[in-house]
Amino acid sequence: MNDLHPLFPADAAAHPRFIVGPCSAETEEQTLATARRLAAEGFTLFRAGLWKPRTRPGGFEGVGAAGLAWLDRVRRETGMLVATEVATRDHVRAVLDAGIDLVWIGARTAGDPFAMQELADALAGHDLPVLVKNPASPDLELWIGALQRLYNAGLRRLGAIHRGFATLDGGAYRNPPLWALPIELRRRLPQLPLLCDPSHIGGRRDLVASLARQALDLGFDGLVVEAHCAPDEAWSDSAQQLSPAELGALVRTLVVRCDGTGAAPLAALRERIDRTDDELLALLARRMEIVREIGEMKRREGLPVLQTGRYGELLDRLTARAAGLGLHADFVRRFMQLVHEEAVRQQIER
Ligand code: PEP
Ligand code: MN
Repeated sequence: MNDLHPLFPADAAAHPRFIVGPCSAETEEQTLATARRLAAEGFTLFRAGLWKPRTRPGGFEGVGAAGLAWLDRVRRETGMLVATEVATRDHVRAVLDAGIDLVWIGARTAGDPFAMQELADALAGHDLPVLVKNPASPDLELWIGALQRLYNAGLRRLGAIHRGFATLDGGAYRNPPLWALPIELRRRLPQLPLLCDPSHIGGRRDLVASLARQALDLGFDGLVVEAHCAPDEAWSDSAQQLSPAELGALVRTLVVRCDGTGAAPLAALRERIDRTDDELLALLARRMEIVREIGEMKRREGLPVLQTGRYGELLDRLTARAAGLGLHADFVRRFMQLVHEEAVRQQIER
């Protein structure tokens, strides 16, 4: 995927890019009122879900094709580009007829290869920007596969939206971010625009700002954020939506942070990181040398490779030291587990 086109013709100037609007278009009044207030805050890209895939039946499932005319009105009255979610070939036909500017594919659809292929076939031959949310399960290959189906259908204005992952224990988050996955996506597909949806990650409006900042600090190209003219009364995802004014204020603080990053200090810090990584690697290599020596000794003495008591003590000792060093005990444990796994491999594979 190294011949992608910009999502929008005039994309270059607008970085980072924000796609904002309500989770769902509920009524024409709510859609227009939200859009007008977002336009007044300076936003240029409006989102609103018309077809809402709900986990369980009975929730608000969207107004469907009736809302297309509302989005058209948003575009004519505010000048914003408009975006909505598609999940079936009928949705695609309807948005193409209505001249919607951008579509996204939701988490529940992106994880279904049959649905993705149906969408790719329906979109083939149309030069529409398409953003693919990550599947709810933390499966990078499935996410890339969904993008690949669109690419193979000839679509070139593609992007990805990171919206967090369904995990057994999300802590404070509705869908914990598992940042390593979108970072790996960026490494694998460096040309692909990568946006973050802090609303669906956080699931609570008080978590949105810090997640948005983290995403931009990590180099995401833009954000998809839910905003509603009366968030508490929203028919879907009311806990996570911001008012247009709150979102405008948040984005102004983000822009200040982006502008404050000078290239020279950054390069100097990266150089220090590189040197530290070199040291880290040299230390690991030294540790493995000792491990191999111990391996030889165990072999000579007829001792087993794995001595679980010793391994447990090592983990306890190092995780206890973690906090004092400003490290998470859990990180130290996972890191040492990896190191130990490699040490055992080196001892049994010789
Ligand atoms: C949405 O963007 O409103 C939505 C339904 O998101 P997701 O597919 O990420 O759950
Ligand atoms: Mn939503």
